[in-house]
Amino acid sequence: MSAEIIDGKGFAAGVRERVAEHVARLKADHGITPGLAVVLVGEDPASQVYVRNKGKQTVEAGMNSWEHRLDTGVSEAALLDLVARLNADPAVHGILVQLPLPDHINSEAVINAIAPEKDVDGFTLSNVGLLNTGQAAMVPCTPLGALMMLRDRLGDLSGQEAVVIGRSNIVGKPMAQLLLRENCTVTLAHSRTRDLPGVVRRADIVVAAVGRPRMVTGDWLKAGATVIDVGINRIAAPEKGEGKTRLVGDCDFDSCAEVAGAITPVPGGVGPMTIACLLANTVTACCRANDLAEAE
Ligand code: NDP
Repeated sequence: MSAEIIDGKGFAAGVRERVAEHVARLKADHGITPGLAVVLVGEDPASQVYVRNKGKQTVEAGMNSWEHRLDTGVSEAALLDLVARLNADPAVHGILVQLPLPDHINSEAVINAIAPEKDVDGFTLSNVGLLNTGQAAMVPCTPLGALMMLRDRLGDLSGQEAVVIGRSNIVGKPMAQLLLRENCTVTLAHSRTRDLPGVVRRADIVVAAVGRPRMVTGDWLKAGATVIDVGINRIAAPEKGEGKTRLVGDCDFDSCAEVAGAITPVPGGVGPMTIACLLANTVTACCRANDLAEAE
C-alpha cells in the first residue's frame, strides 16, 4: 500500500474540539448557548442511531440539544407545525429533520419549511441557491466534511481535476458546487456516464458517493490521486461468522490504496466528519443569529 490514509475520526475529533472551544467562548463572553433541535419521525433503526449520536455529540460540545420523536403516522400538518414552532424559538439555532420521512409526508415541503438560517443540513431551496450562486450558505454536512479533509491534505485546490461520482442532492451536487467554488475543474458523473473508469482516471481528486460496495477499483485511478470515499455499504462478512456484516465504501480500499496518494477509509473517514460539521454549522447559525464572528 502506498496511499496515506486520511484519518477522518481524528480530524473530526479536532473539529469537535474547536467547536466546543467556540461554544465555551460564546457562553462566557455573550451568555449564549447554541442549540440544535433534531426531529425524528418513525422507528427506522439507522436513523435512530444517527439521531442518538447527533444528540450525544451536541451535548458533549456544550450545546443545547432537543430531540423530537414523532410516530410514523404523524400528519404532515403536525410536522409542519412543529417546524414552525422551532423556527420561532430563539433558543433553537439549528433544525434538522432526519430523512427519510414516511411516504405519506412530502419531504420537500417539510425541509423547505425550515427557516433557511436554521437549516444546518443546508437542504432548503434557499441554501441550495445560495451555494450554487457562490453566496454565504449553510453547506450540507457530508460534502463540507469531505472538502475540509481535501483542503487539509492538498491546500489550495485551484485547477485540480475533480470527479464526483453520484449526483444526489445531499452529497454529489453540493460536493461538485463546493469543488467548483474552490476553482477545481469539476466533472459530475452518474449512472449514465459513459466510460466511468476513463473519466475517473483523469482526476486528481475523486469523490465517490454512489452507494455501490467497492465499485471504484485501483485501476480506475490516476497515480497519486486523492480519494474521498463517501459510500457506506453494509455487506455480508462470513469471515466474521455466520450472518455477520461489515461496512465498506464505494471504493475497493486495498486496490485503490495501491495507486492513490491518499484515501479515506470506511468506516472512519467521511462518516465522523458529517456530525462534526453539523455541530460546526449549528455554531455558525448561532453566530449569524447574534451578529457575532462565525466559527473558524
Ligand atoms: P443516492 O442513491 O441518492 O445517489 C447515488 C448516486 O450514484 C446517483 O446519482 C446515481 O446516479 C449514482 N450511481 C448509482 N449507480 C451508479 C453507477 N453504477 N455508476 C455511476 N454512478 C452511479 O445516494 P446518496 O448520495 O444519498 O449516498 C451515496 C452513498 O453515500 C451511500 O452509500 C450513502 O450511504 C453514503 N452516504 C454517506 C454519508 C456519510 O455521512 N458518510 C452521508 C450520506 C450518504 P443516477 O443519478 O444516474 O441514478
